[in-house]
Amino acid sequence: MAYTGRDFDCDVVIVGAGLSGLTAAYTLLKHDSNLDVRILEASDRIGGEILTKTLKCANGETDQFDLGAYHIPEKQKEINDLLAELDIQKYPQYEEGKKSLELLDGQVKSVLGPIMMPVGITALLDLVSFFIKVGSASNAINLENPQLSVNAADLDGTSMEDFCKKTAWTTGGADLMDMMVMAFHERAPAHISVMEHLYLIKSRGGLMALESGYNTKIKGGMYQVCQKLVAHIKEENIHTREKVVSIAQEDRLERELVRTQSGKVVSAKHVVVAVPLSNIADLEFIPPFAIEMPAPPYTLGSISFVATYSQPFWRDAGFSGHFISLLSILAQIRELPQAGPLAIVMDGESTNGHAALFGSLVTGNMRNPTWVTDKLKTMDERKAVVLTKLAEIFGRQAEQAIDYADHVWEPQEGVQEMSKFMDKFAFFSQSSGRVHWAGTHVSPWAGNMNGAVHSGILAANDIIEQMK
Ligand SMILES: Cc1cc2nc3c(=O)[nH]c(=O)nc-3n(C[C@H](O)[C@H](O)[C@H](O)COP(=O)(O)OP(=O)(O)OC[C@H]3O[C@@H](n4cnc5c(N)ncnc54)[C@H](O)[C@@H]3O)c2cc1C
Repeated sequence: MAYTGRDFDCDVVIVGAGLSGLTAAYTLLKHDSNLDVRILEASDRIGGEILTKTLKCANGETDQFDLGAYHIPEKQKEINDLLAELDIQKYPQYEEGKKSLELLDGQVKSVLGPIMMPVGITALLDLVSFFIKVGSASNAINLENPQLSVNAADLDGTSMEDFCKKTAWTTGGADLMDMMVMAFHERAPAHISVMEHLYLIKSRGGLMALESGYNTKIKGGMYQVCQKLVAHIKEENIHTREKVVSIAQEDRLERELVRTQSGKVVSAKHVVVAVPLSNIADLEFIPPFAIEMPAPPYTLGSISFVATYSQPFWRDAGFSGHFISLLSILAQIRELPQAGPLAIVMDGESTNGHAALFGSLVTGNMRNPTWVTDKLKTMDERKAVVLTKLAEIFGRQAEQAIDYADHVWEPQEGVQEMSKFMDKFAFFSQSSGRVHWAGTHVSPWAGNMNGAVHSGILAANDIIEQMK
């Protein structure tokens, strides 16, 4: 493809203004504030999977609520270091009281203390052996540089679906393992590499730390993190509605030419690609990488919602606000037609103490990833279904929400099936010449904010190293 001109030249172009791309830009500018770093973002907003909305609350007030990422485990180093550096405060997730579990037969059971699985002893033994295997294997993961872990390529070339199948002796045990993996990642086990799972567990402080360590939230909402990063990067350096369509090597100039859908051409010494894998598959690399892109599989979507209330009536009735539907979660990968769509609910109290319930719905299943969103097209339709189900679990007051908002995270094609990619596509190394890989969806960085921050920092450090 011939380029006739360039709109501007800069030092580094970052593709994608999610947490990973923003962290990469912030890290580069922290190293050298004179660098010309630009971010090209396809959508009209910054933040990617971070989305904070303002809702009406009690006493005519408003407050901030997250509809994207929200929980930060205490033990995850990179995200917590970044929060401290940006002077962002956290507060704990409310967890006192009964937790509710929807069983596979549709019954809802509420229990005090840890939720016990209603299964037979052999299935339970299967699950214990799964935990032991995962726990000890995760100890061996090198968090600084996962590709240096023992058997790294094998771990990233095997899906959790295959791992669970191999580990389980009973169908009950296999069901439990699948549910644990799905509840943990909100994605099908077939689309999660063993490496990703183990990295995530170790980065959260190991299996033992999972229950207690996962539940802190950001005061004022996650979007604040993006705002603080943008304040360093400067808004004028982030170009929204600029979807990158190709990245071309310009060997004579020793630069990369990055072209957007609107026809802009930006030349840069380095490019950081910080987008989901499904979007990488849409990018044209010139010359092409010596790889063949496989037809990417679906990953399941989800619908996050928040309903605000005048008071936390569920707490008064002894509920923590936690609800998890084994039925909805398993129905995403198994044939369970009566299930869904409510999957998870939690107490969603805001920083300023405004009462709310927060949760997620499934959007469909592997066979039909959009059956829920096809049926419940408008927010009002979804609100009616959510409030009715909340009333069944926590009582009639749930119908009296002050405000409601939701966000549909569409199912995506192509979020990793690493076994198909790893030996062909060099995601494992942080850079391929002047192109550097970041982003939480690029294995082995795992689908969480720590992975986004970590991979953004490493991509920036690679560039800093190359610039010496
Ligand atoms: C509902 C939900 C809840 C979550 N909860 C948690 C949680 O509690 N804790 C946690 O740690 N993690 C959580 N996560 C995961 C976490 O949000 C993500 O892992 C992280 O934010 C991803 O950051 P990223 O920068 O890698 O990718 P993204 O946020 O996906 O950003 C990528 C950006 O690239 C842009 N882009 C794509 N293609 C192009 C292109 N061709 N040109 C230009 N721009 C492009 C996209 O528009 C997007 O803005 C949650 C995610 C969701 C959806």
